[in-house]
Amino acid sequence: MPSSKQQPRLGSHPVSVVTGGAGFLGSHLVDFLLARGHRVIAIDNFVTGTVNNIAHLGGNPQFKFIQQDVTEFLFLDGPVHYVWHFASPASPIDYLELPIQTLKVGSLGTHKALGLARHKGARFLLASTSEVYGDPLVHPQPETYWGNVNPIGPRGCYDEAKRFAEALAMAYHREHGIETRLVRIFNTYGPRMRLDDGRVVPAFLSQALRHQPLTVFGDGRQTRSFCYCSDLMDGIYRLMMSEVSEPVNVGNPQEITIMEFAREIIRVTGSRSRIIFKPLPQDDPRQRQPDIGRARTRLGWKPQVTLPEGLGKTIEFFRNRILDRAKARKPAGRRRNS
Ligand code: UDP
Repeated sequence: MPSSKQQPRLGSHPVSVVTGGAGFLGSHLVDFLLARGHRVIAIDNFVTGTVNNIAHLGGNPQFKFIQQDVTEFLFLDGPVHYVWHFASPASPIDYLELPIQTLKVGSLGTHKALGLARHKGARFLLASTSEVYGDPLVHPQPETYWGNVNPIGPRGCYDEAKRFAEALAMAYHREHGIETRLVRIFNTYGPRMRLDDGRVVPAFLSQALRHQPLTVFGDGRQTRSFCYCSDLMDGIYRLMMSEVSEPVNVGNPQEITIMEFAREIIRVTGSRSRIIFKPLPQDDPRQRQPDIGRARTRLGWKPQVTLPEGLGKTIEFFRNRILDRAKARKPAGRRRNS
């Protein structure tokens, strides 16, 4: 457990609050914390999260769920030792559709989550993002890079909300002495991503598993670096328990072009899909690769799961989701006979 000037007072079980606890990453974090003996209170308004991600926790006495928008005042009885602020739309098509909610959860939601941490004497961790670097002019991206963000472009609502959230966390740290942690999360994938969330992993996997064309945006030469969700959870947990209050990149530095990624998806799924090209969305970053030097040296963290391994686990999840959907669409009579 952490030692610091403001160490949370722990009973038999540390208590963690996870905002966005029914989302893709939030729900993995809830599972990760429960497995480490935390009592967990998850808060979510189901704007992009879903009850399916936490349904398996029904009846678990260590788990409590509150359906609430975290931009509203958070009142919780009892002790809280850790606040993990994960609530936010995070896929480009989600935050394009919900720009005001994205700005509000990054600003007002972060304010409420920091207020809760301050009131309870808890540590606070912000799920920040590689998007704070925008379309980066420095490659790979170290935490010392200030970024190249278009504040008024379509991605500005997410990028600037997260930059504001980082600034607010630092202000609470400096002015109120709150123990704050900032993790800059690079592209992460795994089970529980929504089939239709528009990000490249669910998009390509659902296309490949249905033998439909894979939609590469632009010429496919833009790069990303994909981290499997269990690696990310390990890095985030280490960060919260560390003494590092500077931002830390957590992501997999193995960089790949989107075109190569499309071919890899076709290979690992054994799909008959072909590749087609669609226009590149505005301000789509051309390259992205985390410099994970700080996570390696300060947290002793590095990713363990290779892309083929992680994709294997993710494919299983997507295959089942596609089968479930197909079953749900079949008429009742035919379903009984099949
Ligand atoms: N992309 C693509 N086809 C798709 C979805 C995304 O080529 O059907 C590209 C997108 O233009 C971007 C990259 O894949 O260059 C990663 O996109 P994603 O939405 O997953 O997240 P981002 O890293 O851009 O936030």
